[in-house]
Amino acid sequence: MAIVDMTAREMASAVRNRELSATEVVEAHLSEISAHDREVAAFLLVLADEARHRARSIDEAIARGEEVGPLAGVPIAVKDNMTLRGVETTCASRILAGWRPPYTATVVQRVESAGAIVIGKTNLDEFAMGSSTENSGFFPTRNPIDLSRVPGGSSGGSAAAVAARFTPLALGSDTGGSIRQPASLCGVVGAKPTYGLVSRYGLIAFASSLDQIGPFARSVEDAAALLSVIASKDPMDSTSLGVGFDAAGIGEGVQGMRIGVVEEMLDGVSSGVASVLDSAIAALEAAGAAVERVSVPAARYGLSAYYLIAPAEASSNLARFDGVRYGLRVEGEDITETYLRTRERGFGAEVKRRIMLGTYALSAGYYDALYGKAQQVRTLIARDFAAAYEHFDALISPTSPTVAFRFGERSDPLSMYMSDVCTIPSNLAGHPGMSVPFGPAENGMPAGVQVLAPALREGVMFRVAMALEAAALEAAVPEWAKAAGSGGAA
Ligand code: GLN
Repeated sequence: MAIVDMTAREMASAVRNRELSATEVVEAHLSEISAHDREVAAFLLVLADEARHRARSIDEAIARGEEVGPLAGVPIAVKDNMTLRGVETTCASRILAGWRPPYTATVVQRVESAGAIVIGKTNLDEFAMGSSTENSGFFPTRNPIDLSRVPGGSSGGSAAAVAARFTPLALGSDTGGSIRQPASLCGVVGAKPTYGLVSRYGLIAFASSLDQIGPFARSVEDAAALLSVIASKDPMDSTSLGVGFDAAGIGEGVQGMRIGVVEEMLDGVSSGVASVLDSAIAALEAAGAAVERVSVPAARYGLSAYYLIAPAEASSNLARFDGVRYGLRVEGEDITETYLRTRERGFGAEVKRRIMLGTYALSAGYYDALYGKAQQVRTLIARDFAAAYEHFDALISPTSPTVAFRFGERSDPLSMYMSDVCTIPSNLAGHPGMSVPFGPAENGMPAGVQVLAPALREGVMFRVAMALEAAALEAAVPEWAKAAGSGGAA
């Protein structure tokens, strides 16, 4: 098997057992990147020299018989809104171009101490605002499955890099769906953990009460392995919960589980995506789960509440980019002019739209009617999920209402915002959610099934995800092969 086709766990065990060197693993991925990233454009920065250097030191450590960690020698791509000390971090914004952070994100420290090798920084919608990477201040990323289509966003570079086999693992951030939606559109696994499970230290804030870092991988077990490395207590993030994630037991199946299909997440879904969900329901039933429809009424208002809360927090978080402390500075007559010119030049159109929306929602006289109301809706959503979880262990829905769309197709902001109707409610509730590929749907493009679970029930979520993955793999084997082989093992 080609190195780039292996799972992350296979790579790590081959490196530990000296069947492969970390250097060979890194070189195989770097050559894939140099052959194909010109078309895909997943990376803003490829850290080739640094990755080679790290690979060599891991190989030396193994030769000395040292303990090298569960992800030894495994490449990982990092969305460019997470910091690595001394390495340019832009959030795909012109306003941060050239900024080199003086500190490393906790997640990056965690993956590096587990032996993983950061291979590059991936593209995103500017400050993670968008669903296609078309809002990147530099260039859009293309979907590796069909280059005329978007990879989704905002973590489109990370999803595309994993789908294109540039790396088996990547980190993304999810404020309203930015891990799960691109995972669905690129046909990979992506998970947003419970709010607080993974440290946000070193993640450049978009909407602090919603942002969570999470894993991308090509298999559910790889995603779980990465999550178990990054989930931790971090004294540098006061919202970190202080619990870990243990992947043991995620292969135990769904026999006897009660799984709800969220009614409010079925509106406006394409027929291809709807039939993908139908086959997922059938697969879960065949695996022994009881699947029923359930209503989470306030989820209907998730999108509206999100587009008040997220811009409100963003308008405040982005106030710090003023031409004085970070990146771009466009001089004016006085300091106020300098602020204005820097922000005018440095921010793209969508970021400016969010800053204006958020500032308006927080302004005197509107605060209670807009921001305050949205916070009440947020409480209702959490309450309605809690009611559903009295009867169900997990919930499912489409991840995204459609498959990957073409560039320029969603030029009106509202149609772009609609990409996240199914993912946003769990960010508002602080609950975990993940996307598992279960396609193809329209035009042969991938579509994911979203699995939701109560706070800190990632174990249940991953169990459902593994059952779906097993069914999808089984369905992908042609009938003649099943008949010819003994139980499909061939
Ligand atoms: N697409 C949503 C937005 O534009 C979610 C983005 C995200 O999760 N970072 O806000």
